[in-house]
Amino acid sequence: MKMTPSLTKKSIYILCTGGTIAMQKTSEGYAAKPGYMIEAMKKIPELNNQDMPHYTIEEYEQPIDSANMTPDDWEKIGSSILANYDKHDAFVVLHGTDTMAYTASALSFMFNHLNKPIILTGSQLPLFETRNDARENLINAMLIASHYAIPEVCIFFNNKLFRGNRSKKMDASSFSAFASPNFPALGKVGTDILIRKQLLQPLHDEKIFLQSLVKTVIISLKMFPGMSHDILAKILQAPLQAVVIETYGLGTATEDENFLKVIQSASDSGIIIVNCSQCATAKVKMSTYAAGNALKNAGVISGGDMTSEAALAKLFYLFSLKISLSEIKSRMQENLRGELTI
Ligand code: ASP
Repeated sequence: MKMTPSLTKKSIYILCTGGTIAMQKTSEGYAAKPGYMIEAMKKIPELNNQDMPHYTIEEYEQPIDSANMTPDDWEKIGSSILANYDKHDAFVVLHGTDTMAYTASALSFMFNHLNKPIILTGSQLPLFETRNDARENLINAMLIASHYAIPEVCIFFNNKLFRGNRSKKMDASSFSAFASPNFPALGKVGTDILIRKQLLQPLHDEKIFLQSLVKTVIISLKMFPGMSHDILAKILQAPLQAVVIETYGLGTATEDENFLKVIQSASDSGIIIVNCSQCATAKVKMSTYAAGNALKNAGVISGGDMTSEAALAKLFYLFSLKISLSEIKSRMQENLRGELTI
């Protein structure tokens, strides 16, 4: 469906955390420099066009490569948005591509009753380069954020708008860096901007609320043929609280008895084990194969078609609610923010 953009000039808050978009060449390779993005944006004439929103930009004191992001940064980004929530119509977060899907997923869970767009974007080539994807991504993210009622955390990249908690970085060099393999794109930019309104999350009557995160010990593990059960047993120990295990295909793993014993005893000790597929396009269904059922019988819960990024972020969020382990397990298998197809 083609949506009619609103005509009143909107105000957006931009938070620049760093990433390639804001980087410059240094002797150590691309690195983000404080102050660069704010100055560079003043020199983009299109940002003054009448259909562009007013914007306020704030920057991390020391912008970072997103490889350095931690849950503390998710909190920092969430708090900056919350502090500006009532003053602005929409939010754009400039962020490195490497961990953008994690941050977008985390923010989607942390914000309860979100009614305004939060769009993360970045680029594969920095804004300062003659040939770059930064300018287009920035302008389009700002336009979409300001003109369309999208009550979601999204990623905008290479003319596509994706639900943040469905997104994955798929390509490290093409401008088409992101996809949401298990969910259609929410929007597309061509000569027109098309937003698929019917796919969007609902608007809320309740007041916005940001769930802060408590320190939780979570890891993700990728299954591979011959994974040592001895090493696994050493990893799946307190203080570990949860693990996202990336299994094969529809959620299978080795049926080796020793491996399954380790999984069973970790699960019995209260460690939550969530099964997500290594395949980008997949929905875990452990009952399909005996090699999947064995995991289910050992206490593993299904991540369905969630990305492993979303499953990890959802665990951080659910543990922060201080609810029981069985409640965490059951909510992991519920669709909270459009991250899971039931
Ligand atoms: N290493 C960069 C980052 O994630 C990559 C990028 O932004 O494209 O910050």
